[in-house]
Amino acid sequence: MTQPWPTDDERPVLLLGPNPTPNGGMHLGHIAGPYLTGDVYARYQRARGRQVVFTTGTDDSQTYMVASARRLGTTPAELARTATAEIEQALCAIGISFDGFGPFDEQYRHTVREFYRELYRRGAFRLRTVRLPYLERTGEYLVEGMIEGDCPNCLTLSRGGLCETCCHPNNYDELVGAYSTVDARDVPGTREATIMVFPLEQYRDRLSAYHEKWAPYWRPHMVAMVREILSRPLPEIPITYPLDWGLPAPFPEVPGQVLNAWLELIPAGMFTTAYAARRLGRDTEPGELWRSTANMRLVHVLGFDNSFFFCLPHIALLMAYGGGTDHILPEWIVNNEFYELESDKFSTSKRHVLTPQELLREVPRDLIRLYLALTAPEYQRTTFSRAGLDKVTSGRLVGPWNQLAGVLAKAVANTADPTAPLPVSPAGRARTAAMLARLDTTYELPTYSLNRAADTILIQIDRLARRAATLDDRSVDADPQPWGDLFLETKALLAAAAPILVDLGAAARRAGGYDGVLRPGAFDVPGTVPFAPPMLPAPEYHGPGLGGSPAAGG
Ligand SMILES: [Zn+2]
Repeated sequence: MTQPWPTDDERPVLLLGPNPTPNGGMHLGHIAGPYLTGDVYARYQRARGRQVVFTTGTDDSQTYMVASARRLGTTPAELARTATAEIEQALCAIGISFDGFGPFDEQYRHTVREFYRELYRRGAFRLRTVRLPYLERTGEYLVEGMIEGDCPNCLTLSRGGLCETCCHPNNYDELVGAYSTVDARDVPGTREATIMVFPLEQYRDRLSAYHEKWAPYWRPHMVAMVREILSRPLPEIPITYPLDWGLPAPFPEVPGQVLNAWLELIPAGMFTTAYAARRLGRDTEPGELWRSTANMRLVHVLGFDNSFFFCLPHIALLMAYGGGTDHILPEWIVNNEFYELESDKFSTSKRHVLTPQELLREVPRDLIRLYLALTAPEYQRTTFSRAGLDKVTSGRLVGPWNQLAGVLAKAVANTADPTAPLPVSPAGRARTAAMLARLDTTYELPTYSLNRAADTILIQIDRLARRAATLDDRSVDADPQPWGDLFLETKALLAAAAPILVDLGAAARRAGGYDGVLRPGAFDVPGTVPFAPPMLPAPEYHGPGLGGSPAAGG
């Protein structure tokens, strides 16, 4: 059947997660947004037999590194080293299955430098003298993460460069009532500086055409932000800054300046793609898989607060680099909103945080993943609630699943020959196909939704548990067909739930429940061998995950 909208196809997927700034660890708010979104999408694509390169790497050049290190009394380099390890631990513990987490190494720097040299050769940048916030006391320019003030667009507290509330840029001296993020008593004046800028206005027509093509399919908040920005004169984006921290800009006109860290993220993506592809056994140069000839489908998952850069300057940089002809442009940019902790913002400074590792000490990983998926902030701000997690996971997941698994285990134990396939009725096959089609819809773009995938899994568990209860006192050997139907539907549900319930899926594969494949037709079979499904551990559980310690992959 032809879909009325562009949907996922069999091309390999290049899936980029957001680049975490290594100025602290990672909390559940980060995970419930783009990381789980990307992980579940990647796991689904792999199960469908499609090639995926799911990657990211840390964003060490950000000025947030300088401000955070000074507040903590350490150096940015030392902070990056310790925080990168914490970030990787958190991602691994909750099972975010990156194919490669790119290091911030010499090859990274080389890739970024060469990308900018090429754009410079193509005449993409302009030299401009602008006024930047400047602190006489320290002799420093204060930009980006070094400065805070009111956003000139929405009047909320914002850092320099980009407001994370309205997602509009604020450059140069545009922040209102600005002060230093290291010491709020430091109020800067301004000083002229001659920097390199990227004139976004020159790309207006191509950016407008690109966004109008995708607008019907992307999430509305981001589409509205892009349209609002495109309705005004487009800003010139600073490409360099006169700062000490960052990658040296390879342009003779601005000696001693560094690159704007936000704009490193496209070549960073090219670098981490090659790094991850190499780990998957495909040796490529950075950027090679971004060539149109490689025929990849580029997907970004990110928070709304980052989406200005990914939707406008990054796309225009790629256009200047040959994007749309020689190089691919993103086909999907999947954004999410903020996630709160007990209806209050996650805040490291106020110690209002919960890390995956902390929660994993009390709650098994699959339960956390299911709850985060169910409550992920896809369209609006949502909240994590511990009471909510306990209620949902015990009442809708662990209780009914274990009831279903218990009935099926008993049936296997009471069967004369548990290795003999049970017949499956045409109606059972039709129900299996309908259930898988519903779940496909929740996993495929543009209808991809963690909320709906998690809810659909819970609805199907409930349906099968109720069906199991009606069969409980009927003998498998005397009446095999309804049992064959139930076993097949349970196996198909396990396969389709495995991108979220990773440990249950892995345990079911070990128990012979299914082979991890979700290809069309895999469950369209006339008979199925019974098996005893694994049970789910309850919350308040203090041991490792099902059949092993929490780890990425599976
Ligand atoms: Zn704002």
